[in-house]
Amino acid sequence: MKKNIGILGLGKSGISVANLALKLGNNVFASETATKTKEIKKLSKKILVELGGHSDKILNSDIIIKSPGLSPDIPILKKAKNKKIKILSELSFALLNSKYKKIIAVTGTNGKTTTTDLISKIIKSKHKDSIVVGNIGLPLSAKALTTTKNTYITMELSSYQLEDSPNFKANISVLLNISPDHLSHHKTMKAYIRGKENVFVNQNKNDFLIVNYDDKICRKLSKKAKSNVIFFSKKPLKNGIFYDDGKIVIQIGKKYFQIKPKINIVGMHNIENILASVSAAYFAGIHLKSIEKVISKYKGVPHRIEFVKNINGVSYYNDSKATNVDSTRVALESFDKNINLIMGGQDKGFPYTSLKQLIKKKVKAVFLIGEASNEIKKDLRGVSTFFDSKSLEQALKQASMNSKTGDIVLFSPACASFDSFKNFEERGNIFKCLVNKGF
Ligand code: ADP
Repeated sequence: MKKNIGILGLGKSGISVANLALKLGNNVFASETATKTKEIKKLSKKILVELGGHSDKILNSDIIIKSPGLSPDIPILKKAKNKKIKILSELSFALLNSKYKKIIAVTGTNGKTTTTDLISKIIKSKHKDSIVVGNIGLPLSAKALTTTKNTYITMELSSYQLEDSPNFKANISVLLNISPDHLSHHKTMKAYIRGKENVFVNQNKNDFLIVNYDDKICRKLSKKAKSNVIFFSKKPLKNGIFYDDGKIVIQIGKKYFQIKPKINIVGMHNIENILASVSAAYFAGIHLKSIEKVISKYKGVPHRIEFVKNINGVSYYNDSKATNVDSTRVALESFDKNINLIMGGQDKGFPYTSLKQLIKKKVKAVFLIGEASNEIKKDLRGVSTFFDSKSLEQALKQASMNSKTGDIVLFSPACASFDSFKNFEERGNIFKCLVNKGF
């Protein structure tokens, strides 16, 4: 039956879900606080739009679909709740209008995109009818109408989407790790964790919850699950899926198997992402030989410690996605020594001091770009030699001059990109382009 659907927030997912609601034959009205939005071109002309703020017009809706970034405390949502209007997330609405064989959902503070990407590639290698959605690319709404009862849906879910989706249920859920993040939105760590909980809270004994045993918060949280909890770990487990000297061991109950894929992505954090992917794919019914084959070919997601090229014995890595200090820490932990580090960009107001020990131990020199240079030098004084570079190109030239055979040039900014680039993708692509043409 035709309904009045109100869309609150016209970001990427708002636009997709508005178009889906219209295609399903509903009356759609969309409201957005910004006066201009980039994506609006993609919105069907048949949708009535209000820009520059939310009037009470949206309160005529039967259902309001809320954008994941919006705080649940904004006045219009309070009014909608008082009027008992049903409020759904984009994910919930899209799921109500999708068909599927299995849903595999990945969440965590870090590693979501890599893990979702790898799982989806393993699934795709065996099941043509499979899609990958969520933060990694298109929202489910954009693909809902193409799904069938045989579709495997792999999805990357943020805490925002999960917080708004209390009825969410996946056949296989993956909980990678939980550390403080997005607290300006969720307010407290408890609320952030509660959001993540929605990835498994509705699961039952036929479902699987894949959990990082090495992450204490995740391990504790998984006690609440009613589904089959499967642990993965970087260290041997009595029961679970673990890494042991280049091998991935599956030891569950009386079952024991091992695979030894060629691993092309660097860092122990990526071993965690691979373990989570093996676990999810195994319980999705994919044969271990096929899993091994896909991992052996897997090159990672662009801009995450991405190997670009070896020039005269020096390996160049693009880690432009490292937009915070923690990501740069993870990148530094992924290499032994002799790193020429290019960092800097737009400062996010967090100290760089946690990098001190790693830089002292592993970095030959630091080449600084962008607005944050002085802040970085101030925080890291005395731990390395610092060079100010006028541009990424100059930094690359300086870093390469400082390198000899066996060294690494790592571009891991620890900062946002917006001082000089459109986004981290543009920044990383420029870096790769410079490296590929020899600067
Ligand atoms: P997300 O989608 O959660 O942001 P990505 O796969 O895009 O995760 O990785 C982003 C960055 O997070 C990486 O560059 C790396 O620094 C860090 N990272 C990736 N996987 C992990 C992990 N399992 N544990 C901790 N940090 C990780």
